[in-house]
Amino acid sequence: MPDRLGAPLPAPLFNRLAIIGLGLIGSSLARAARARNLAAAIVAIDGSETVRDRVTQLNLADTITGDTANGVQDADFIILCVPVGACGSVAEAMRPGLAKGAIISDVGSVKGSIVAQIAPHLPANVHFVPAHPVAGTEYSGPDAGFSTLFLNRWCILTPPEGTDPAATAKVRAFWEAIGSNVEEMSPAHHDRVLAITSHLPHLIAYNIVGTAADLEEVTQSEVIKFSAGGFRDFTRIAASDPTMWRDVFLNNKDAVLEMLGRFTEDLSALQRAIRWGDGEALFTHFTRTRAVRRSIIDLGQEVDAPDFGRRTKPDDETQ
Ligand code: NAP
Repeated sequence: MPDRLGAPLPAPLFNRLAIIGLGLIGSSLARAARARNLAAAIVAIDGSETVRDRVTQLNLADTITGDTANGVQDADFIILCVPVGACGSVAEAMRPGLAKGAIISDVGSVKGSIVAQIAPHLPANVHFVPAHPVAGTEYSGPDAGFSTLFLNRWCILTPPEGTDPAATAKVRAFWEAIGSNVEEMSPAHHDRVLAITSHLPHLIAYNIVGTAADLEEVTQSEVIKFSAGGFRDFTRIAASDPTMWRDVFLNNKDAVLEMLGRFTEDLSALQRAIRWGDGEALFTHFTRTRAVRRSIIDLGQEVDAPDFGRRTKPDDETQ
């Protein structure tokens, strides 16, 4: 498995790449695109002056602006990297500046709602290829990004029916160049798959950490002190950005509620097995789940190190 990005391409894939929203994902894309020479010029567009100042200091782009319509002018590839709930207003703001033939994409964690928000604002002479990199951390902002974030991670493309295959192929080439494995599916299927693999686990983590924080008979210091018993791993997920995750749940409501219903039923079955002392049911269940983890490791989506691959040296924490 490769552990670093390849050499810069001899010729860039795009002339002008505009990235809107320079947080964890947007700044990682800027870094990765620079490292691999994927665009002749990079434009960073962000509404926050603080973010723009930081992007300037980090030298992540050739042009940095807060004006969305101006920023996207002449860009042949535009990627929206803002929270899901902001995509409609950002698409509306960029419309006056869009160049004919431009490819518009995004990185939103929900796809059905993104298509519904963005597509109505796009003129017929541009291409729309939504994307979702299944990669991230619990950190936010331009300082949190790093160029290898997408390496050996999946990126799911959900091009609407009738999308120009050449545009989809270019977006695929971009993600592959920064190390991702690319798969295509419909927005609805994406939202169901991610509801169970990402959205529900985050909801469970937010819930369990909240429950522990509210417990009266166990002190806060005990929760922190004994967290290595399993709780610690939930706290990492539950530290994820509140704006991003609020928007994910509001915009993938149906799929999340459906998966939550199934989860609750299965949880009741486990509760029942504990109540009735049904050790065989518990053992069978836990054996099946252990095999799922093995498959994830075999697919290279997790490391086989003990303690959930947690790094021991503080200077390793930069990744
Ligand atoms: P982030 O670090 O919080 O960055 C978001 C950036 O967008 C911030 O600079 C923010 O500025 C800016 N922004 C917010 N609202 C805006 C608006 N209306 N107009 C222009 N800029 C705006 O978030 P992120 O983690 O990179 O997430 C960005 C997108 O990636 C989300 O759609 C998320 O679903 C998706 N995604 C995230 C992950 C992950 O693990 N984090 C993984 C895959 C996909 P302010 O700081 O001023 O708000």
